[in-house]
Amino acid sequence: MSNKQKRFFLQENEIPTHWYNIQADMINKPMPPLNPVTKEPLKPEDLFPIFAEELCRQELNQKDTWIEIPEEVREMYKYYRSTPLVRAYGLEKAIDTPAHIYFKNESVSPVGSHKLNSALAQAYYCKKEGVCNVTTETGAGQWGAALSYAAKVFGLEAAVYQVKISYEQKPYRRSIMQTFGAQVTASPSMSTRAGKDILTKYPNHQGSLGTAISEAIELARTTPNCKYTLGSVLSHVALHQTIIGLEAEKQMEMAGEYPDIIIACFGGGSNFGGISFPFMRHTILEGKKTRFIAAEPASCPKLTRGKFMYDFGDEAGYTPLLPMYSLGHNFAPANIHAGGLRYHGAGVIVSQLLKDKYMEAVDIQQLESFAAGCLFARAEGIIPAPESCHAIAATINEAKKCKETGEEKVILFNLSGHGLIDMTAYDQYLAGDLTNYELTDQDIEKSIENI
Ligand SMILES: *Cc1c(COP(=O)(O)O)cnc(C)c1O
Repeated sequence: MSNKQKRFFLQENEIPTHWYNIQADMINKPMPPLNPVTKEPLKPEDLFPIFAEELCRQELNQKDTWIEIPEEVREMYKYYRSTPLVRAYGLEKAIDTPAHIYFKNESVSPVGSHKLNSALAQAYYCKKEGVCNVTTETGAGQWGAALSYAAKVFGLEAAVYQVKISYEQKPYRRSIMQTFGAQVTASPSMSTRAGKDILTKYPNHQGSLGTAISEAIELARTTPNCKYTLGSVLSHVALHQTIIGLEAEKQMEMAGEYPDIIIACFGGGSNFGGISFPFMRHTILEGKKTRFIAAEPASCPKLTRGKFMYDFGDEAGYTPLLPMYSLGHNFAPANIHAGGLRYHGAGVIVSQLLKDKYMEAVDIQQLESFAAGCLFARAEGIIPAPESCHAIAATINEAKKCKETGEEKVILFNLSGHGLIDMTAYDQYLAGDLTNYELTDQDIEKSIENI
């Protein structure tokens, strides 16, 4: 027993100093985002009015493999990094598998999820470029919480538009943002043109990510020294998240193993890319055989059932056209509890990688995800975020296959966050009040046809 190490940590001076930019190593580069009016490929300058300039350059950088993490961001990573790599002995035992299961525990970040890895970087670049205010939208509130804290760290004011229904249903995420000093507004609101227009037409509108994005972008455009930020989907967000996989690479080495399978849940692709890309580098450059599996909800299956096409990133059609797997920007996913996975499209890097078969995707039903989450909680003592439950379900499925074949595969998954602020979801699951959602091919075709 005593020689079975449970957790692997890096010393502060071993925390990676550079993020990994997989775009530089990809054989087929992602196709360029297009200006929706001219259909011309976007240049970094085209994005300057909305995002910090350095983030725009990172977004389209297909040249530099390693991008230095600024000193100030590294100092802040030390507050919670390295995050532990954990051997899931309890889970292995619970499902009686010969597989070796490891997870990277991003739930130990101060805000409870991986989102802070990019929030700190984005707030830092805004500050450095003389920006005073940052704005964003948030659904479940994970990204809003991360940005609120990161803004405070770098002395910025944060204005967060939270989808009205989750503002009311998830009061503790709102209090977390307010505790960090952010100004939180339920969206749609009367504070923007976009919000007023919607409320005039539909006074009882419950809000959606699409309208919250429109409000946040409008605020950024009309306020001097204010930039918009986004917590997923974009390539610079996945870049910042590679800190997860780069640490895991060193920690797996400490454990004396290399993963055969890497699994993460999938909303826009940032935690999946974060843990996968540093390992995928060895697949691209050295032909290493590792399977990379993205676990998405069956109710929002852009990777398993969507179409690769140019589509808008938001419902309103304000953003550039992105080459991605999508269900259509008007797709309205069912109201599942994994709010962070309810997005119609996938980031452009992961989309190209899926097209080129470097990775696979599976879809997981809501009830299966919570069953996996409860099993994990009882075996490892950590209550996973509803989003992370999808990765756990996919891990259990692979580990069960190992049980059938007797193979001792090494499986690594990313625990993207904890579920301690999501206990109403667990309450409903335990009371038997949650359901699965079936999507027909016609539902999906109709949504894609609409663009
Ligand atoms: C936002 C979120 C996700 C989904 O976003 P990705 O960009 O796909 O990683 C997953 N898990 C948690 C805990 C989240 O907050």
